[in-house]
Amino acid sequence: MKTSEPSYSARFECLAEKCPENCCMEWDVDIDKKTADYYRSLSGAFGDKLRRSMKREEEPEIPEEVLKDSELSAIEDPSEKVEDEVPDDGLFSGLREDTFRLDGIRCPFLQEDGLCEIRIRLGYENTPYTCREHPFNTEEYETFAETSPSVSCPAVAKLVLETPVSNAYPPAPENEGKDPVLRLLCRKRNAILSAFDEGKSLNRHGTELMDIAQKLQIEINRVAPDFAYDFPGRLSVPKIRETLKFLRNDLTILTERWRMQLDKAISVSINLDAFNEFQNRHTAEITRMFAYFVYRYYLKAVNDCAILVWSAFIADCAFVPAYLSFISGEPFSNTYAWFSREIEHDRVNAEAFLDYFDDVIRR
Ligand code: SF4
Repeated sequence: MKTSEPSYSARFECLAEKCPENCCMEWDVDIDKKTADYYRSLSGAFGDKLRRSMKREEEPEIPEEVLKDSELSAIEDPSEKVEDEVPDDGLFSGLREDTFRLDGIRCPFLQEDGLCEIRIRLGYENTPYTCREHPFNTEEYETFAETSPSVSCPAVAKLVLETPVSNAYPPAPENEGKDPVLRLLCRKRNAILSAFDEGKSLNRHGTELMDIAQKLQIEINRVAPDFAYDFPGRLSVPKIRETLKFLRNDLTILTERWRMQLDKAISVSINLDAFNEFQNRHTAEITRMFAYFVYRYYLKAVNDCAILVWSAFIADCAFVPAYLSFISGEPFSNTYAWFSREIEHDRVNAEAFLDYFDDVIRR
């Protein structure tokens, strides 16, 4: 199976001890089944320590259940879609069962010297798949796969911010495989990414993405949906506040830092003119982050055919960290990395945020 990746992947270098965001802290470490089985089979004190540190997660929801009753699930039975064959570090992974119980905010195997105890004792190949792959994540589709690094890692966020969209993303194959929805999505995503103009505002990008999604949804469903998504309307004072409050009050907050970002953004009065001026000064950076989310999530609609929902999700993934950066003065590399950690990489939060757009679109 042919695998492609963004051009900036080749330039990735872990910041190691200079990293402001250690990826072995603050979030659960998922353990793929094969590795968990191996840990369960180990004898001795270290085997005991591994088992004591593991906790079993509830079986995650699978995508076809999430949107089974949706009017948006359209022409095909999602169960016929290709399933991921590798553990998926992104949304809707169905293969993870175990995680390590954190010691405070640290992975229990992160030593004081910053090294990994599992890697030292059992070797790199016996660390969980997530640790071996991080910050990369692979998505498999019918005839091809895409590997991309996540902006939860500040080194990746920097690469995304400094790479023009025109040089960043390889086109997806448009005419391969049997799945007409996948071919359609590939064609549209290629067109969107190749037309990205780094001089355009977030507002324009969001509006255009939603216009394309509206038409595409009709093409997929073969009937016009009786709902739409007004992206400019989403960037109104009450709607911005509503989204921020949803993130603050309805999702699990993983870090105090994220809670403070949201609290501050909710408490200050919203000055849209000043935000528009801010985003006009940063169109290239915001566009590059927008393109990153398009690349990572547009084709996910192949699982549920809900391209309107996915597009709304993508547009707000680009918007929220940009807005937080405007409010707090934090660099984009931080706000996008924090958002990615809290939402992109937390399966429950990510699914809830996606469901939120399913609700919003139907209002
Ligand atoms: S977050 Fe990125 S740069 Fe930091 S330690 Fe992890 S992989 Fe390295």
